[in-house]
Amino acid sequence: MTAPSYRTEVAVVGAGIVGLAFAWEAARRGHSVVLFDRTARPEGASVRNFGMIWPIGQPPGEDYQRALRSRQRWLELRDQAGLWVAECGSLHVAHHDDENEVLREFATAAGKLGVVCEYLTATEAAKRVPAVATPGLQGALYSPTELAVNSPAAVTRLPQFLVERYGVQLRLGVAVTDVSMPEVRTATGERWRADRVFVCSGSDFASLFPEVLSTAGIRRCKLQMMRTRPQPNNWRLGPHLAGGLTLAHYKSFRVCRSLGVLKARIAATMPDYVRYGIHVMAAQNDWGEVIIGDSHEYDDDISPFDKPDIDELILAYLRPRLNLPDWHIAARWHGIYAKHPTKSFVTAEPQPGCVIAVAPGSTGMTMSFGLAADWWESHT
Ligand SMILES: Cc1cc2nc3c(=O)[nH]c(=O)nc-3n(C[C@H](O)[C@H](O)[C@H](O)COP(=O)(O)OP(=O)(O)OC[C@H]3O[C@@H](n4cnc5c(N)ncnc54)[C@H](O)[C@@H]3O)c2cc1C
Repeated sequence: MTAPSYRTEVAVVGAGIVGLAFAWEAARRGHSVVLFDRTARPEGASVRNFGMIWPIGQPPGEDYQRALRSRQRWLELRDQAGLWVAECGSLHVAHHDDENEVLREFATAAGKLGVVCEYLTATEAAKRVPAVATPGLQGALYSPTELAVNSPAAVTRLPQFLVERYGVQLRLGVAVTDVSMPEVRTATGERWRADRVFVCSGSDFASLFPEVLSTAGIRRCKLQMMRTRPQPNNWRLGPHLAGGLTLAHYKSFRVCRSLGVLKARIAATMPDYVRYGIHVMAAQNDWGEVIIGDSHEYDDDISPFDKPDIDELILAYLRPRLNLPDWHIAARWHGIYAKHPTKSFVTAEPQPGCVIAVAPGSTGMTMSFGLAADWWESHT
């Protein structure tokens, strides 16, 4: 019996946020699209994250603007797909002189850099965000641009939205085993002819185009995460919360000369946090749960087994910064993403018409819609 054969204009491999973004951009331009994922329910990095859309962490300029473009797309999805998307903003809190100095310097430079944010004194921060703990608080940076999404709910809903709105064909629970343009083959024996194929296979470097992915300099990174049970009495965190460790993590703050002092202090006084790449953030979803993380362990250091010590370090850092009514941890997990040391995304075209789009690192939720929109705009 011959295998079934189908025709589409665009085939997308991987229904994580990157694949969803490329599929949506293709569908909204009127292309016929088929979307494959080897798992029937989403299990990748896109359902394991904070759900933070985080422009404030992106380097000012092209990346920040791309993040804002993504942000706009998320707001469209709120209206069109019925997703929960909250315009919560973010607050970085300072508990050391050097952290306060970085926040002041960044806020002063922000206007020229095209970044929207404002410095708050400790009193102003506590007034605006009552969830913030005040002992030792020196100041804060408020940014209005960050969004909160419920990642598991959104990434489950989006494929259905693509079917309902654009007639996208879904092949969930179907692994793609080979792409030889113009043909895509699946483990279930289907053969598809496509004009364009996007391979958005996340942190799997072994299945498709291993010769490209294994030599592209991409690393795998494991992050440990937790979430509380729903907070009582409709308590709300308000903006996403980040502390001084985060200032050393995101590229945006590298424009600050004062960052060197902060980094030196952290290196000298917080070796466990440095060893595990810990910086601490908190976000709240529409179910009232507070999502807390994270750590960064790379490549050979990645173990299938999590380290309770990491969770303790994260919670020890957050407790003095946040007045959380209920600290009971209801779930713990880890996620793995692919990341390039210098590029914010890795794209390649190993065959004409076949585009690999992977490795958005810690910013896939923030950047993918902008990346896909920019890609389609420059190729049509
Ligand atoms: C713990 C954690 C917290 C994070 N927090 C944030 C955050 O708050 N904000 C933010 O912007 N980013 C965040 N990130 C980063 C973000 O989650 C990732 O950048 C993003 O999810 C990567 O998306 P992806 O589509 O590349 O990968 P994935 O979500 O892993 O999707 C890849 C998909 O491809 C499928 N696949 C692979 N190979 C095949 C094949 N051969 N055939 C069929 N299907 C295949 C897989 O099954 C998978 O579903 C976080 C990441 C982690 C791990």
